[in-house]
Amino acid sequence: MSIFTGKDSKTFRPKKNIPEGTHQYELMQHAAATLGSGNLREAVALPDGEDVNEWVAVNTVDFFNQINMLYGTIAEHCTPESCPVMSAGPRYEYHWADGQNVKKPVKCSAPKYMDYLMSWIQEQLDDESIFPSKVGVAFPKSFMNVAKTIFKRLFRVYGHIYHQHFQSVISLGEEAHLNTSFKHYILFVQEFNLIDKRELQPLAELIEKLTGKN
Ligand code: ZN
Repeated sequence: MSIFTGKDSKTFRPKKNIPEGTHQYELMQHAAATLGSGNLREAVALPDGEDVNEWVAVNTVDFFNQINMLYGTIAEHCTPESCPVMSAGPRYEYHWADGQNVKKPVKCSAPKYMDYLMSWIQEQLDDESIFPSKVGVAFPKSFMNVAKTIFKRLFRVYGHIYHQHFQSVISLGEEAHLNTSFKHYILFVQEFNLIDKRELQPLAELIEKLTGKN
């Protein structure tokens, strides 16, 4: 597939893998199986008897991997020249700050922003004190807040792709894939109330069209 042959290999982060044989891996399998049934609403619901933090954690990893690949498909068209600022349409511009190392928002190009954003998420996913992968290790109290921040930031990648790179998506024949991925993402966000409505504004019309509500 074309997505693995991009020139800019640093765009492609190492995937976060959920180790086989773990409960989280089983949850991942469950998610894949229900997704395969084609019912996205059912696929996002918390499976019976499961821990909501663990379910959100597993899906966070999955969406991160998906969105990374989607952006990878158009990354060669997203350059400092084509996209000097990170935006989602003319009315929404994003400056990078992570609230930890970068407190004062930095105005930068979209590819630079993507790099900051994906690196920051990778760091959270790799942090065992936030995303414990070992059986019996509890999730921290702050877990859901971190997850919400990750989802809020990942949304901007969809926003940027839809607003600035949809023509490339169409010429690659990837629009059905993008729409399905985004619909799955938004249904998950709605199910667990992960993003403020205000943040979803750049794609409000599309959300209404895909899900029947915003
Ligand atoms: Zn771009």
